[in-house]
Amino acid sequence: MTAATGASVTVAGAGALGLCIALALARRGREVVVLDPAAPGDNASGVAAGMLAPVFEAALDPLSGDHLDLLRAARDAWPDFAPVAIDRTGAVWRGPDAGRIEARLDALGARWRRTADGPFTDEDWRLDPGAVMTVLYAQAARACVRFETRPADPAEAGVLVVATGAGGAGLAPELARLTPIKGHILRVAGGPETGPVLRGEGVYLCPDPAAAILGATMETGRDDPRVDPDQVAALKQLGETLWPGISALRARAETGVRAGTADGLPLVGPSARPGVLLAAGARRNGWLLAPLVAGIVAAYLAGEDPGPWAARLDPRRFDNGDEGE
Ligand SMILES: Cc1cc2nc3c(=O)[nH]c(=O)nc-3n(C[C@H](O)[C@H](O)[C@H](O)COP(=O)(O)OP(=O)(O)OC[C@H]3O[C@@H](n4cnc5c(N)ncnc54)[C@H](O)[C@@H]3O)c2cc1C
Repeated sequence: MTAATGASVTVAGAGALGLCIALALARRGREVVVLDPAAPGDNASGVAAGMLAPVFEAALDPLSGDHLDLLRAARDAWPDFAPVAIDRTGAVWRGPDAGRIEARLDALGARWRRTADGPFTDEDWRLDPGAVMTVLYAQAARACVRFETRPADPAEAGVLVVATGAGGAGLAPELARLTPIKGHILRVAGGPETGPVLRGEGVYLCPDPAAAILGATMETGRDDPRVDPDQVAALKQLGETLWPGISALRARAETGVRAGTADGLPLVGPSARPGVLLAAGARRNGWLLAPLVAGIVAAYLAGEDPGPWAARLDPRRFDNGDEGE
């Protein structure tokens, strides 16, 4: 899809993906309007932990295991994309069976070293989603991006970029391929304030002076925002394996809904619906992927080569009925 430079673009969704896309397009001289009916940050992006974690995601998440190269490239796109603080302290495995994780890190070709705590990598970084969204909104406003508090309509005029996360029903047929995955996350007062992200079996703990972040459940097929005490209790129990005593600390529970495809990668590129580009379904790595996805979308709209990662993310990869893994 090509639109003449300067032609206006509508971006549906003001999460990590929509904001980064809007900024990337505005920087290229597009007139951009972002539509979202929700308040800023009232989305998956607003509750996320903000890990930019190619190594442990590839090591621990079966759907990410083949994509360390892409995830690393996505991480590396952040520093030049926006003037945001990135914590490069790294991440350490605190779960059981460190030998298995070490073998996995070796097999992936990850950079890691053995420490008293467990295998540690400095390849995984972190950002603060709330602070970064503030920067992205400010940068977008400076670049003359307009924001409207309303849902996008399927009949929206001109080019439409669908970055609606787990929402957006009716905007593009490919969104039917997305499965909602609800997640609980806890902000814990009195937990670790600094140091590497602690990773364990089905759980992580991000140190933070404001409140450490204990995450996250993966409840496939659920998209309601209700806080479920059983999920909170299970998450706290897992947290004990990383930080003994954490379950007794004061914690605020939040939920968010990511959207995922069968192969774990987002849908980025042309929709079967004319005039529509997709950027949705980033699952558990939306913050990590956002600037890379924004670059691909901007290239498509300029009629340029979308680059080496575009084929892996192309929505048409499912057209032959192959639902991936
Ligand atoms: C608990 C939890 C922890 C996570 N931790 C991490 C992490 O550490 N690192 C990481 O990289 N990722 C993490 N993720 C995943 C990440 O949050 C998501 O992949 C990312 O936020 C997706 O961004 P998005 O912009 O696609 O969607 P969202 O942030 O969900 O934004 C979509 C927006 O679209 C809007 N919308 C919906 N329908 C319409 C419509 N019709 N018209 C206009 N707007 C519409 C919504 O209101 C919403 O604001 C986590 C997710 C959860 C839930």
